[in-house]
Amino acid sequence: MPLQLTSLVTAMRGVGDARAAALASLGIMSVGDLLHHYPRGYQCRGDVRSAADALSLAADGSMAAVSMILTVSAEPSFRVIRRGMSILKFRAFDESGICDITYFNQNYLKDTFHTGGTFRFFGRVSMEGKRLCMTAPIWEPVIPGRELPAVVPVYPLASGLTQKFLSGLIREALAHVGGQLPETLPADLMRRESLCTLRFALSNIHFPPDMTALSTARRRLIFEEFFEMGLAMAALTAPESTPGHRMTDTDAAPLLELLPYELTGAQKRSVAEIAADLASGNKMNRILMGDVGSGKTVVAASAAYIAAKNGYQTAIMAPTEILAVQHYREMEPLFAQLGIRSACLVGSLTAAKKKKVHAEIASEEDPVQIVIGTHALLSAGVEFPRLGLVIEDEQHRFGVMQRAALAEKDALAHMLVMSATPIPRTLSLVACGGLAVSRLDEMPPGRQVVDTFVVDERYRERLNGFIRRQVDEGHQVYVVCPSVEEEKKLKITDDPEELASILLDGQLEDDKPPLKAAVDYAAKLAEIFPDLQVGFVHGKMKTADKDRVMRAFTEGEMHILVSTTVIEVGVNVPNATLMIVENAERFGLAQLHQLRGRVGRGKAKSYCVLVSDSKAETARARLEVLHRNHNGYAIAEEDLRLRGPGDFLKNGGIVRQHGTMPLTLASGMGDTDMMECAFDAARTLLAEDPGLTLPEHAPLRDAVSQVRQAASSTMN
Ligand code: ADP
Ligand code: MG
Repeated sequence: MPLQLTSLVTAMRGVGDARAAALASLGIMSVGDLLHHYPRGYQCRGDVRSAADALSLAADGSMAAVSMILTVSAEPSFRVIRRGMSILKFRAFDESGICDITYFNQNYLKDTFHTGGTFRFFGRVSMEGKRLCMTAPIWEPVIPGRELPAVVPVYPLASGLTQKFLSGLIREALAHVGGQLPETLPADLMRRESLCTLRFALSNIHFPPDMTALSTARRRLIFEEFFEMGLAMAALTAPESTPGHRMTDTDAAPLLELLPYELTGAQKRSVAEIAADLASGNKMNRILMGDVGSGKTVVAASAAYIAAKNGYQTAIMAPTEILAVQHYREMEPLFAQLGIRSACLVGSLTAAKKKKVHAEIASEEDPVQIVIGTHALLSAGVEFPRLGLVIEDEQHRFGVMQRAALAEKDALAHMLVMSATPIPRTLSLVACGGLAVSRLDEMPPGRQVVDTFVVDERYRERLNGFIRRQVDEGHQVYVVCPSVEEEKKLKITDDPEELASILLDGQLEDDKPPLKAAVDYAAKLAEIFPDLQVGFVHGKMKTADKDRVMRAFTEGEMHILVSTTVIEVGVNVPNATLMIVENAERFGLAQLHQLRGRVGRGKAKSYCVLVSDSKAETARARLEVLHRNHNGYAIAEEDLRLRGPGDFLKNGGIVRQHGTMPLTLASGMGDTDMMECAFDAARTLLAEDPGLTLPEHAPLRDAVSQVRQAASSTMN
């Protein structure tokens, strides 16, 4: 039977069980999946340089990979240095100069390179003395009458697969089933937006003859991704309203009068939006978005107060015990003054105490009205007889499943989630599908501005001096390092072919400066400051251990806290005045802004130092945004502008917080306009054909339902 789009890859030549398993680990099951396994970058091997050109590049210290066509000038020398280590060396030339080429441990190449043979070499060049050299370049024989590809795809790999094998397989798949691809986009849309056909796009995203064809292909595919996402999410944003508890008495003034301050305009607006939802008789599904310190807690408390007034219970969930306890300490006295009973339910309570709280929550005649806690709130045995409202703080720490579990406790209960990640307006459709949005885009008055500096390694000693000074003044210091685990995940393969790969944004993989591992760094700081208490937390630690360290820091027993980003979430230590972020280039701006929000919470002047050795200009430019800017929304918008929506959605933290969007291509700058345009087109189409039921929209309907599935299966 001829290959179909839906045929399993095992139907293809050369794909046995082992390779099928490797492909499956990349999400490739069918021949059609192969076509949608897009390259993660391309090598421009067609841009051939002369040896003289390459020499001057190498002399300038360029790290870029270079393509040269060279002829072997003498038989290679082959030496076994020691067991398991051999060197093959030869010299090659073009009319402008010579280059020494070396391979390690590739004995079989002895039979490849002979005097007079001409090859295209692709790799990084360097200088040895005054001589140009290349180590382990990719090579291709130059054969008259056969053209070498100018642009070569580099795929995400899994172990057991090579670039060569995978690209061969994709080429074959394209040859067999390329003609069967149904066009997904409506013809008039393609015309209006000058988009190429799906067939052209897929064939050129893999094997573009030149960069123009590649960008035409990318443009179409990225547009389609946004378009389908827009269609998928538009359906989500207009959920049918389901009934919810009707809470008619929505006057929160008695609570607000107890506060020592007046609400900001944004807080007032948010409270009013929530109150309207609670009174509507429909279930509230709302996200309260507000920068760190924008005052989400009191808005949440107002909602809980309204629920209590109307005879309903509220469950408030925080991602950690520390935060739950922090909230409880803040809210309990307020509610107590109003005669409202609240309780704190966390894992570390004794069994007896827990039982008592459970009983109080479940009490029929006089239940506790407001329960603040962690996941313990979800544990069986906690019965809420009158659950009316569920509030989640720092919502991204919870999975959808947990949320569902809590919601199931009462089908009519309202839901309010709070997030400290400001999401640009243009992205709320995708990032907050299904949720109404309240924005706290205004800070309470009198907040200090945290002075922010971007520095590199050369500043290290002064930085240590700065740490010392802060501690001498009685303050505490945060040091944040990116997680090393994450780095491993990023490194998809060790295939030597990838070393020279040029990523689409033009940045070489290797330009990333090495990571400071949090563990080693903590040890080093302990050495530099032997008289100080240096603590350390990372994501892999047991919760109890983590909480212990965090508590020591919170209570001022620890001077320096080194961590991966686990401290990002709502910890409040007003005595901390210095936030140092190592390898700052690895973080999204929104995340850095959140980290910065950990300091400047007390009266003392606070500072944020972003350490980065990245040479990439875009990385520096991004970090400088934080130096200039202190408003989370403005930063998020700027980040979006600099990185483009694809990267923003995939790597900017929104992913981790709101589920991975099935965006595979969109990245880099300049895609924002395309996204907005695609979303507009999605809205227009839905207005014409809301259910995508017209026959010509059938392929699109299938594609959209796949997007929906992918989005919901990764939202956790
Ligand atoms: P977040 O949004 O990060 O959760 P919080 O709710 O913890 O912020 O508020 C941060 C601090 O600001 C708290 O100490 C709170 O009492 C205070 N605060 C909140 N709203 C106001 C306001 N309108 N005026 C002054 N201070 C406020
Ligand atoms: Mg908070």
